[in-house]
Amino acid sequence: MSRESDLPALWSHDPHVHLRFRPGDKVADIDTSATPGFRGAKADAPVLQAERSVRLGELQEKLYANSRSGDSRKVLLILQGMDTAGKGGIVKHVVGAANPQGVKYTSFGAPTEEELAHDFLWRIRKALPPAGHIGVFDRSHYEDVLIVRVHDLVPPDVWGARYDQINAFERELVDGGVTLVKVAMFVSLQEQKRRLAERLERPDKYWKYNPADIDERLLWPKYEQAYQAVLDRTSTDHAPWYVVPCDRKWYSRLAITELLIEALKGLNMSWPPPDFDVKAEKARLANA
Ligand code: AMP
Ligand code: MG
Repeated sequence: MSRESDLPALWSHDPHVHLRFRPGDKVADIDTSATPGFRGAKADAPVLQAERSVRLGELQEKLYANSRSGDSRKVLLILQGMDTAGKGGIVKHVVGAANPQGVKYTSFGAPTEEELAHDFLWRIRKALPPAGHIGVFDRSHYEDVLIVRVHDLVPPDVWGARYDQINAFERELVDGGVTLVKVAMFVSLQEQKRRLAERLERPDKYWKYNPADIDERLLWPKYEQAYQAVLDRTSTDHAPWYVVPCDRKWYSRLAITELLIEALKGLNMSWPPPDFDVKAEKARLANA
């Protein structure tokens, strides 16, 4: 089925194709300050972001509208990245363009005692978006092979089995009408330090700062390995990973907006037809 591309000319390459993780790609080689596929400049970003946010909003409304007439499909955006990568900014500035009525947002922190008593996917399943919604996972089941692996929170055979379990789980989601948009957000150590320093300078940012962020930062070599394993083992045809350089927030926001737009366009939706007689209703209204 052919889809008309409405990708703005400022993109030289479709982010949907260009940012997709390819077997053999190395996390260590990611240029986190690059703006792959974008030929515009930072100065072009505000206007373009505003335009594309409107487009995203329209598509989201269509998804929601179709669910009211029985379409059970949904989109799930999974955001993974180290602290300061900009996950919160994506939620605020990209997802924020959508109508909250059709968004289901969940952030995943350290599991509660109750959650730990269940399989690692238990809390994930509970947070899945209903029909017609865009679900947003701010961190996700991938923490169970990232922080859990880096800190040896469970034995290696337990986390080691999770890659296959995650692939099977995501297969089940896709078969159930979920379009997954998995985004791995990477920031350089230098830019991370700058952002953490800013959090320590500004009282309005203290709330985002956690002393443990520095401990995790020092463990980056282990995280890099863990991220590499995630990308190598769970970037599947049904649920590929997109790798987004995040040193420039304006770029990561534009790119992730396009990934969401592309996912929604891929659903080939039209506005649901009326389940009433329009002409008859007009006549009734005229006399009402
Ligand atoms: P934040 O996203 O900054 O609020 O931090 C949430 C913290 O919870 C991060 O350090 C995550 O790595 C941690 N976290 C999330 N999921 C898990 C998990 N399954 N096991 C252990 N820690 C987790
Ligand atoms: Mg944090």
